[in-house]
Amino acid sequence: MRNKTVLISGASIAGPATAFWLNRYGFTTTVVERAPELGKGGQAVDFRGAQVEVLRRMGLLEEVRRNQTAMGEQRILDADGRHVFSLPSSFAAGEVEIQRGDLSRILYEATKDRTEYVFGDRITSLTETGEGVRVTFAHGAPRTFDLVVGADGLHSGVRTLAFGPEEKFRKDMGYSFAGFTAPNHLKLDHVGLMYNLPGRGVMVASHRNGAEATVGLVFATDMREVDRRDIKKFLAELYRGIGWEVPKLIEAMWRADDLFFSPLCQMHLEHYTRGRIALVGDAGWGAGPGGSGTGMAMAAAYVLAGELAEAGGDHRVAFPRYEREVRPGAEAGLKQAKNTGPFLAPKTAKGIWLRNQMHRLLASKMMVAQLDKMALKAANVLAPSDYVVATNETASSRDMEAPRPKAAS
Ligand SMILES: Cc1cc2nc3c(=O)[nH]c(=O)nc-3n(C[C@H](O)[C@H](O)[C@H](O)COP(=O)(O)OP(=O)(O)OC[C@H]3O[C@@H](n4cnc5c(N)ncnc54)[C@H](O)[C@@H]3O)c2cc1C
Repeated sequence: MRNKTVLISGASIAGPATAFWLNRYGFTTTVVERAPELGKGGQAVDFRGAQVEVLRRMGLLEEVRRNQTAMGEQRILDADGRHVFSLPSSFAAGEVEIQRGDLSRILYEATKDRTEYVFGDRITSLTETGEGVRVTFAHGAPRTFDLVVGADGLHSGVRTLAFGPEEKFRKDMGYSFAGFTAPNHLKLDHVGLMYNLPGRGVMVASHRNGAEATVGLVFATDMREVDRRDIKKFLAELYRGIGWEVPKLIEAMWRADDLFFSPLCQMHLEHYTRGRIALVGDAGWGAGPGGSGTGMAMAAAYVLAGELAEAGGDHRVAFPRYEREVRPGAEAGLKQAKNTGPFLAPKTAKGIWLRNQMHRLLASKMMVAQLDKMALKAANVLAPSDYVVATNETASSRDMEAPRPKAAS
């Protein structure tokens, strides 16, 4: 095989998923992760259609199901906190939903015996030579790999080093998200609540253990007004004077030790590969919430490894094919996620009313079936092809078969 050693940056979803498939095809993988350990918790992420098929092909579907959130309906509340209507669970939770941290752990467990994981380090430079990529790290000694994969998320370090500064690709969506864990004082049981005032949304759900709830705040943002030095203070001011359960949730926010804040933005790139370097997942096409980013990252990992294996490790053949395969799905996700901010936090009272009217209609039985069909169609844009190559389970990497034409999928 031409290129054998692959360095992957990022150990969340796209990174371990890429390592999983590369290992299966006989590549040697190293994952470097900036954080000192795997990320825990995180938002719930869902899979449908072809994305579920990828989990099945990995042999991980049952494990994912064992850890699923089993989330029920999403209740939309009015300004007084009264239940107006419900969105069915499939609307947000797909066929199977799991917390991102749980999925990350499952992927790590499935790869740790064959992949070298290096936590608490990051790539500082990438120099391509004719033979490979010379890599320097913030802490570890320099090393050379045949290929490098950037699976290090929306603010990817590999993308910056190999493709240029983030500003070149970034599109701000005008909304931000903050999430944290709070006591489940509303006694929610596999149910989500959504409450709105113009430009500000509050989501509370509980699906993990009865004692905890996850809280999400989505709000229209002018980043010039956000004081990043003290996000808690900024959020408390933004949500001050709001009724319903908001004061209690904000009180819980002050005590939370897992507050996550992120302005919603997207990355639009013309290419996902350059030379010996490829981007997978949010690093390449981060869409934000509502963009099926997780399912897409896992499907793309499958495609990248499959194309490399089928091309006998020749990135010059595999990378253009990879780009062609994943682009339609990546772009569908970017398009889909554009509506997330306006849906979760309409900017005017009229906008909230209109959203509720429309979704009340969509929540009717007939429309739900229609909506599920549309969501399935979007998830199936990147359907997994069959890569006809020997795997590590059937042959050693040295015995890998020569590339054969792709089977009809
Ligand atoms: C608020 C919010 C809600 C979302 N909701 C959903 C949802 O409901 N459904 C869904 O499918 N998707 C959702 N997404 C998107 C989803 O989280 C991502 O698409 C998915 O996590 C992509 O995985 P990834 O591995 O590409 O990137 P990430 O999960 O972001 O992982 C990147 C990894 O790289 C590491 N890293 C970063 N920089 C470096 C560096 N320089 N060197 C080494 N390591 C580095 C990070 O620590 C992290 O471990 C949501 C996103 C947000 C922000």
